[in-house]
Amino acid sequence: MQKGTIGVTTENIFPVIKKFLYSDHEIFLRELVSNAIDATQKLKTLSSFGEFKGELGEMNVTVTVDKEAGTLTVSDHGIGMTADDIDKYINQIAFSGAEEFLAKYKDNANAIIGHFGLGFYSAFMVAKKVEIRSLSYKEGAEAVKWECDGSPEYSMEPITKESRGTDIILYIDDDDKEFLEQDKIDSLLKKYCRFLPVPVISGKVKEWKDGKYVDTDRDNVINITEPAWMKKPAELTDEDYLKFYHDLYPGQDDPLFWIHLNVDYPFTLTGILFFPKIKNNFDITKNRIQLYCNQVYVTDSVEGVVPEFLMLLQGVIDSPDIPLNVSRSYLQSDSAVKKISSYITKKVASRLEDIFKNDRAEYEKKWDDIKIFIEYGMLTDDKFREAALKFVLLKDTEGKYYTLEEYKALIEAAQTNKEGNIVYLYATDPVAQYNYIKAATDKGYDVLLMDGQLDSHFIGLLEQKLEKSQFVRVDSDIIDNLITKDNKKEVLLTPVQRNIMTTLFKSQTPEVDKAQFLVAFEALTPEDAPIVITQNEYMRRMKDMAAMQPGMSFYGELPDSYNLIVNTEHPLIVRLRDEATDALESTVAPIEEQIEAKNTEITSIRDNAKDGKLSDEDSKKSSQLEGEVNELRSRQTTAVSDYAKGQPLVKQLIDLALLGNGLLKGSDLSEFIRRSVSLL
Ligand code: ADP
Repeated sequence: MQKGTIGVTTENIFPVIKKFLYSDHEIFLRELVSNAIDATQKLKTLSSFGEFKGELGEMNVTVTVDKEAGTLTVSDHGIGMTADDIDKYINQIAFSGAEEFLAKYKDNANAIIGHFGLGFYSAFMVAKKVEIRSLSYKEGAEAVKWECDGSPEYSMEPITKESRGTDIILYIDDDDKEFLEQDKIDSLLKKYCRFLPVPVISGKVKEWKDGKYVDTDRDNVINITEPAWMKKPAELTDEDYLKFYHDLYPGQDDPLFWIHLNVDYPFTLTGILFFPKIKNNFDITKNRIQLYCNQVYVTDSVEGVVPEFLMLLQGVIDSPDIPLNVSRSYLQSDSAVKKISSYITKKVASRLEDIFKNDRAEYEKKWDDIKIFIEYGMLTDDKFREAALKFVLLKDTEGKYYTLEEYKALIEAAQTNKEGNIVYLYATDPVAQYNYIKAATDKGYDVLLMDGQLDSHFIGLLEQKLEKSQFVRVDSDIIDNLITKDNKKEVLLTPVQRNIMTTLFKSQTPEVDKAQFLVAFEALTPEDAPIVITQNEYMRRMKDMAAMQPGMSFYGELPDSYNLIVNTEHPLIVRLRDEATDALESTVAPIEEQIEAKNTEITSIRDNAKDGKLSDEDSKKSSQLEGEVNELRSRQTTAVSDYAKGQPLVKQLIDLALLGNGLLKGSDLSEFIRRSVSLL
């Protein structure tokens, strides 16, 4: 019997493995099964080259739990190891600068394991004793048993073992009894070994019998040895892709489409990416892209490997070239990873372009669902943005889809304003904004539907990208102000009439919490509505953004500010104007003259000020005059407001406009109904 010390320069590596690698305990199983698979594959390769002439037999890997004995065993029928092999591969672990490295990467089990080829030794994370029993494929090889109890000493001796291959027997630690539960082992194998290329057997297939599950005598194979991504796209039908998708993510809707990745230069990468149908917002945290290394599951935290925007996709990426056993920050700066990331972006863009070109109808049908990926990609990835300009679509309120180029061609002639800018009109809620959309389409304009979660950001992007173009929401002003033309009609109101009409309407606007109404006049056509309520585009965007991002609460606090636009050409307004002028001009005009006179006086006092300072007397005089002006103003206002109270038509017109915007509610609404009846 051979005894020796494992070639580790550090005092005792095993406590270190146990302690530092605590968080990632469960990966020992991945490591051991991977080794078993490697040994199996190696023998298959030797056999195919004629270097191994014996019978291969059943080439599977078995994981066996023996609760009574307290052992977990991983067995394979691969190349096996001679005593010399064990000496070379297991006993002599290359180990330089170990302590320093362990300190640096103590939070990253993968890093340590990968760096030192410690795969096998990860067994000591859960085992107090490990046994290797192995028979090499080599002719005349002697079976050997190696044993180690977690101290740096091991023992090795010949044994009798009939079958070729290796058994790794773990005597599970008392602290890690969970790894003696069949269910736990099954679920770990499902996670890490689901797509390994050799059948992995764990226990027996269970059957429901007499009210409980019982073992049958069939082996329970937990993996799919030839996963779809390893096959050639030509070998796969749509059903195969869909089946694979549902195997990966049970209970999800069919994906919208998929992209089969297959590169072998300048790096090797295969995989299938799916565009999922996202039902509720970004609820995709559970079912993420999975990263594999030669069919061994590594992680589903793919940040840094996959471009950020494609984190919304699902599926599998498999590459032996991704340095998986290193820390995340290293991964992100790795040039191979960068290349992979930009390759995936390119591939996704060109696949989308293909679908768009070859089957536009299908692409349009799926547009509403894929739009979020494409907009997100365009907002976050420069390369993707450039590519996507060709196939990003705009949808209008009639449900028609256009590319950017097509849409520009559609609206350019009619919707260029007098400054030469193309005005893109959009709506965010076709029901609530119906009146405005209609006003625009009646003029022969087209209105886009921008109701997606990212649309407000996307509009910002388009405004940067499209030259001489601007986006305005269709209800942010009357249509003639949104797309200004040269032949705009002027408002014909005398100063006194403007004064009277402003107060007339202002005095009747409702008191709505956090809303403020400004009265303005426009000479629309007599057929247009008498009153239109609009909301300033800039303020609205600011408030929308404030709602989405913290730190902008200032805008969120501002009242909603609406414009009450009075159409001075409408016959009802003309009538109101004339009647009010008749009734009020004789009161309002003289007061206005007095106000003007006092204002002139105030100005001249101010002009007399020396070095910007008024004398005490002047300052007193000036504030007295200001007081008088205020007093006169309020007399004016009172006169007009009193008159307005006797004019139900004013309130009726305002309420009609509010009603059209969904702003008339509660008691104001019932008051409106009551008034309507009495007016009838
Ligand atoms: P790595 O797999 O990264 O080389 P390990 O510590 O996991 O590091 O394994 C060290 C070596 O031991 C392997 O390269 C292989 O030669 C040998 N080995 C481990 N497990 C087996 C096995 N089940 N059958 C044959 N050889 C094995």
